[in-house]
Amino acid sequence: MSQITITLPDGSQQQHASGTKPIEIARAISQRLADDAVVARVNGNLFDLTGPLEEDAKLEILTSRNPEALEVYRHSTAHLLAAAVLELFPETQLGIGPPTEAGFYYDFQRDTAFTPEDLEKIEAKMWEIQARDLPYERVMTQKEEGLEKYKSAWMKCQLIDEKAGAWFSEYTLGPHFIDFCRGPHVPSTKRIKAFKLLMVSGAYWKGNEKNARLQRITGTAFFSKK
Ligand SMILES: [Zn+2]
Repeated sequence: MSQITITLPDGSQQQHASGTKPIEIARAISQRLADDAVVARVNGNLFDLTGPLEEDAKLEILTSRNPEALEVYRHSTAHLLAAAVLELFPETQLGIGPPTEAGFYYDFQRDTAFTPEDLEKIEAKMWEIQARDLPYERVMTQKEEGLEKYKSAWMKCQLIDEKAGAWFSEYTLGPHFIDFCRGPHVPSTKRIKAFKLLMVSGAYWKGNEKNARLQRITGTAFFSKK
């Protein structure tokens, strides 16, 4: 197997087999670093801890002390929210779920309005999925195949049509959930330790009031309950 050279932030270099993952390099440095790792930075770009490194690279392991890691963490919580909503209300259409300065949101389209009781149910379902320790697994899909697969999910279809290259990345969360997303994410749901759903508000697809009306569920997430 071919070898790659990994350069760490202190300038030191290590040889690894091609395909080694950042989480494995973190673990070799210290278990504590691996436990606190949220995401990697590879040649300047955020990168999954479980993504294979296939070329020489500069690698930095980002921990919970890093503000960009908090964004990745919050965005990963938004995926957890979407997975919970789909388990409880499978007729729901998914919009987008970005991190925000104070937390995250996910936009949904559903005929019935989400009630405060629904939010409680969704939050409980999120904890249930969190406890399953599901990996955020990256899957590469061909654009044509993706458009066919998402044809009943009109917002995803539109985004794939507009943004995807010939191949695009998707992330699974268990056997039934997959979301068109560039990533990266935390390695698995058990990394998500503290979150709270805050409210439901109205939103429009792509923020344009001429477009479909959506329901936005807003939440917040932190690295610990403190
Ligand atoms: Zn994502």
